[in-house]
Amino acid sequence: MAGTGVFEEIIDGDVYKYYSEGEWRKSSSGKSVAIINPTTRKTHYKVQACTQVEVNKVMEVAKTAQKAWAKTPLWKRAELLHKAAALLKEHREPIAECLVKEIAKPAKDAVIEVVRSGDLISYTAEEGVRLLGEGKFLVSDSFPGNERTKYCLTSKIPLGVVLAIPPFNYPVNLAVSKIAPALIAGNSLVLKPPTQGAVAALHMVHCFHLAGFPKGLISCVTGKGSEIGDFLTMHPGVNCISFTGGDTGIAISKKAGMVPLQMELGGKDACIVLEDADLDLVAANIVKGGFSYSGQRCTAVKVVLVMELVADSLVEKVNAKLAKLTVGPPEDDCDITPVVTESSANFIEGLVMDAKEKGATFCQEYQREGNLIWPLLLDHVRPDMRIAWEEPFGPVLPVIRINSIEEGIHHCNASNFGLQGCVFTRDIVKAIMISDAMETGTVQINSAPARGPDHFPFQGLKDSGIGSQGITNSINMMTKVKSTVINLPSPSYTMG
Ligand code: NAP
Repeated sequence: MAGTGVFEEIIDGDVYKYYSEGEWRKSSSGKSVAIINPTTRKTHYKVQACTQVEVNKVMEVAKTAQKAWAKTPLWKRAELLHKAAALLKEHREPIAECLVKEIAKPAKDAVIEVVRSGDLISYTAEEGVRLLGEGKFLVSDSFPGNERTKYCLTSKIPLGVVLAIPPFNYPVNLAVSKIAPALIAGNSLVLKPPTQGAVAALHMVHCFHLAGFPKGLISCVTGKGSEIGDFLTMHPGVNCISFTGGDTGIAISKKAGMVPLQMELGGKDACIVLEDADLDLVAANIVKGGFSYSGQRCTAVKVVLVMELVADSLVEKVNAKLAKLTVGPPEDDCDITPVVTESSANFIEGLVMDAKEKGATFCQEYQREGNLIWPLLLDHVRPDMRIAWEEPFGPVLPVIRINSIEEGIHHCNASNFGLQGCVFTRDIVKAIMISDAMETGTVQINSAPARGPDHFPFQGLKDSGIGSQGITNSINMMTKVKSTVINLPSPSYTMG
């Protein structure tokens, strides 16, 4: 159970502590932040509201700890990461319980998130020892006008203190996808978890504590992003920011100093369906891609662009599958569970009402109880409706009927987002040409968009992000190249 057994030391009364200098601490603010259970809409957990003084302390110790960590052999860093991965998997049940209570993640998916996170840490440790174990050797005579008088040795060195800010929908997985590459590359790490999901993240951090990482190398400060976010992201002690979330990321990128940024932001992933597509496959992918975790995934299918000729048939198949989805509490492992906050539910409702006023066809009756919204497919959506462009982050999916491939590509590229997209067709040539034309970081052919497997590159174009994630890319992003040049008194060429 959360907060018990090995996790007893991370809680004080009914408030979870924050993690600084290798210890679990109470904030001197004397204030806490309530975490509302999306299902009951009552306070379920509380976390510390950390102060600016506490943030300063965390940054100071992170800087000192990083210097020693950079001198720790790679294989030892990897060994500790493997330990943390094993502990995370061992304690998957209490961590998954937090995900159910804090973010209403269906019970089985909550366990999958924790196990996947353990696997991600181990893979990162493996990849890190290989990637960081190699450098480059360059010689000067390949550039015009030079003799072979210079040997250049390059290696990858850490950046310093990495600030990690994940979103509510994968508070464990999207935290470790930043923590593990930062640590294997020799950086220290300050985590600011999302408020909804903070307690799951604190349990995860305790697994790193139990694994025996040096004091101060990892810290976790809690509090509302709107209150401590700016202080953290503009802190002079931060050498790199890895952020996943919504528009907040755009604001951060404008305010952050001259530090490398990894920004994984929102999406409006389009699903283009051609006349020759396998419609059963498409319908299965639309329902899984659009409605799993109630549509609260960055890579959820967020707009269907289907050729008019097959639209009726596809809509019928999708509706038949939607009718089978279970709706209810995450504890019962229902397919559709309450969305994360009341304000999210209100936002989704606003998009639905706008579409209603402008004449979209409701394939199901709109139903809502508290934060719980029943799955809804909106047909005949037109570009003048907000839902054609905005990210609902809920179980509501618009269908736009198109008459040409160009129309589909045009809609996709007119979006300010460019995370992923997908195309369904049996014609691989058409699929590749559409993929090339779509302005998105990734295009899936004959499958719904997805972030995993976690070692694949993952990136958004336009307002969907800066830089690329995926294990190798994250390790590279959290390092800098350092060169040492050996200058010879006279040219030296290989014998023979
Ligand atoms: P969000 O509201 O942008 O919050 C993300 C994180 O930023 C949270 O930890 C939040 O803390 C923190 N934050 C808030 N204000 C801040 C500030 N001024 N400075 C620094 N940090 C601040 O996003 P969300 O609602 O959690 O997540 C949903 C969004 O994430 C969607 O748009 C989704 O598409 C996107 N997402 C993208 C990816 C991707 O990889 N591209 C993956 C998953 C989700 P608090 O919770 O305390 O406010």
